[in-house]
Amino acid sequence: MLKLPENFQDYSEARQQGFIKLKELKERGKKVVGIFCTYTPTEMVLAAGAVPVGLCGMSDEPIPAAEKFLPKNLCPLIKSSYGFAVSDTCPYFYFSDMILAETTCDGKKKMYEMMNELKYTHVMQLPPGRSGSTALHSWYDEMLRLKEVLEQQLETVITEDDLRNAIRLKNRERKATLDFFEIGRLKPSPVSGYEISTIMDSNSFIFDTEEKIAILEERTAQLKKDYQENFAGKPSRPRILITGCPSGGVRDKIIRQIEELGADMVAFENCSGPRAQKDLVAEDKDPYLALAEKYLRINCSVMSPNPERIEALGEMLDEYSVDGVIEIILQACHTFAIESYRVRKFVTEEKGLPYMALETDYSQTDTGQINTRISAFLEIID
Ligand code: SF4
Ligand code: SF4
Repeated sequence: MLKLPENFQDYSEARQQGFIKLKELKERGKKVVGIFCTYTPTEMVLAAGAVPVGLCGMSDEPIPAAEKFLPKNLCPLIKSSYGFAVSDTCPYFYFSDMILAETTCDGKKKMYEMMNELKYTHVMQLPPGRSGSTALHSWYDEMLRLKEVLEQQLETVITEDDLRNAIRLKNRERKATLDFFEIGRLKPSPVSGYEISTIMDSNSFIFDTEEKIAILEERTAQLKKDYQENFAGKPSRPRILITGCPSGGVRDKIIRQIEELGADMVAFENCSGPRAQKDLVAEDKDPYLALAEKYLRINCSVMSPNPERIEALGEMLDEYSVDGVIEIILQACHTFAIESYRVRKFVTEEKGLPYMALETDYSQTDTGQINTRISAFLEIID
């Protein structure tokens, strides 16, 4: 049974409502920048007076259109994102004045070359690792280059004051998001993981950061009250942490199922969780350097080596009193698939917890098999 609020809006409802708001903003002359990844320094987009909008594909509908151009054996997130663009079926892509992307995994960066033929796509050259001083220097240079690109493409000027204001605003949003995540630490958790995941993905369709902060703060306060009144002292269901690839495209197939089958999804060690939120951007130094430092610390598997992900995972397993870990690996995602060896070893051998990897795509063909595997995994925990 999912613990959802009365006014809960699912992802597709939030996405649809966002269309209308974005159209109104465009009519008022607002510029829009389409983005794909948590490495995107959205502060720069805000400082340019534009709104960032997430374009990550989470549906299998546009995949056949993408497969006319891209190999079938490719991550569904990449195919879905490109499919929406090439079939002109995503209003957010349509309304975007430009696309801002990064060199993360091989599939994405090669897809962006093709996307650039549909709409101007600026690709930031993300270093493949954090070691040594050259990684930070080159990423810092990419921040300065982005300033020039945004100014030119959006016909604006980014001042240092604008950037500092955007950094402060985004830091407040990060703090509100972290407080919301931390509700999952309560035992039993009063919040559904399905809700957490939906809110994080739907937030991309709220274009006023103050509004996002207010929604998060209000929901966190409600959940704390709900915990005191209805949950405190009650028995807890098995507590699951999700790790691995972005899970928005398999939210119904996996996250909803975990909760329907009797567990609580208490934490996400992926792009829907604290991975990109847990470090604030320093407010007391060169803002371009502060942004470069913050975004380089994000511990996605595209970084090599990436021991920081294992450290962060270890902290989360303790802080959220996790009973078992499920890793989601999207088909053909090599970086997460290979890193799953270390994750499995760490979770089972060092933390002594059950671990299961689910390799899947956005289709419904493996739904039955996934249900069976989740049920068996929950039985082990019980
Ligand atoms: S998984 Fe990595 S590459 Fe993909 S959106 Fe998240 S941070 Fe970016
Ligand atoms: S899930 Fe993996 S393959 Fe897919 S876009 Fe993210 S890093 Fe690339």
